[in-house]
Amino acid sequence: MKGIYIHVPFCARKCKYCDFASYAGKMHLIGAYMVALEAEARSYRGESADTVFVGGGTPSLLSAEEIERLCGMCFENFNIADGYEFTMEINPGTVDEDKIRAMLLGGVNRVSVGVQSFCDAELEAIGRIHDAKTAYDTVCALGKNGFTNINIDLMTALPSQSMESLKETLNTAVSLPVTHISAYSLIVEDGTELEREYSSGKIVLPDDEVDREMYAYTVDFLAKHGFSRYEISNFARKGYKCAHNVKYWTGEEYIGLGAAAHSYDGSTRYCNSSGVEEYISRNKKEAVRLSEQDKISEFMITGLRMEKGVSADVFEARFGKSIDDVFGGALKKFAAMDLIKYKDGFYSLTPRGIDVSNSVLCEFV
Ligand code: SF4
Repeated sequence: MKGIYIHVPFCARKCKYCDFASYAGKMHLIGAYMVALEAEARSYRGESADTVFVGGGTPSLLSAEEIERLCGMCFENFNIADGYEFTMEINPGTVDEDKIRAMLLGGVNRVSVGVQSFCDAELEAIGRIHDAKTAYDTVCALGKNGFTNINIDLMTALPSQSMESLKETLNTAVSLPVTHISAYSLIVEDGTELEREYSSGKIVLPDDEVDREMYAYTVDFLAKHGFSRYEISNFARKGYKCAHNVKYWTGEEYIGLGAAAHSYDGSTRYCNSSGVEEYISRNKKEAVRLSEQDKISEFMITGLRMEKGVSADVFEARFGKSIDDVFGGALKKFAAMDLIKYKDGFYSLTPRGIDVSNSVLCEFV
């Protein structure tokens, strides 16, 4: 069964670290954007799916009526299977009770809140539009008004972040009614305001060693509080893994709607125009046919990021050759270095392998 991703590229303000396809000052285009989205959804009419993920950007900037319309668009055009997962991303301070009601009535059953930190100085340093209290209140409001499956995004290695402030953020996170936590290290992307501030020395970032220490603490702390790591940066209570993201990580097919959205049909990736105006006026879908080697690399890289790892049987069924014939040398080498282990038919990263995952995964490109 496929997953559907819908991109809502509007933001109130650009965060300093963000290089996603998201735009501030374009909210006057939302009406025309919705029309274009609906046209694109109609072009897939009749497809079946069991996950929907509305991401951005900031989908929660849409009005209650627009949220209702967007949800209706999904159920009118796609056969959404029973037991579906329907996630919408939310930025703290951008939802009220009307919007929450529109989401619940529209079929949204999972929300993902971009908290990043519960420390005001850290939020300000990365240019978030909200403070810690607003993030806290938003998560509480979502829980109080009926959401029982709530993810929060957190970040580590933020400017001025210390182990103490990370501990406070994590303590607050687990005191909230959340079922899932994503925790990514801040990456300084080229061309962002954060990169300019970092290069000019205006901000200082924790070094790699501190970053690793923060990660290790996060994994340990969350495990003690009932959140198991199932992907390098993702932690869930039992039964609450994100089914939509698992599809990406296991090479399943998906349909992407909206500016900059990608679709994948098992052999070709289609990329929509990334500019909002261009998407509205004339979306150009670019097709990139993946070679067998591309597919194998992606399968290994995303699969090894998962706690369970890569199944040797699934690899062989999908690619018609044994994983040992293709990667035997690398797998043996990393096993000898205690970076990759083999258990019950799965290859996965060891704790040491996770620490140096970037270098290990490069070997499978
Ligand atoms: S809210 Fe998200 S998408 Fe929007 S600018 Fe910030 S990081 Fe980027």
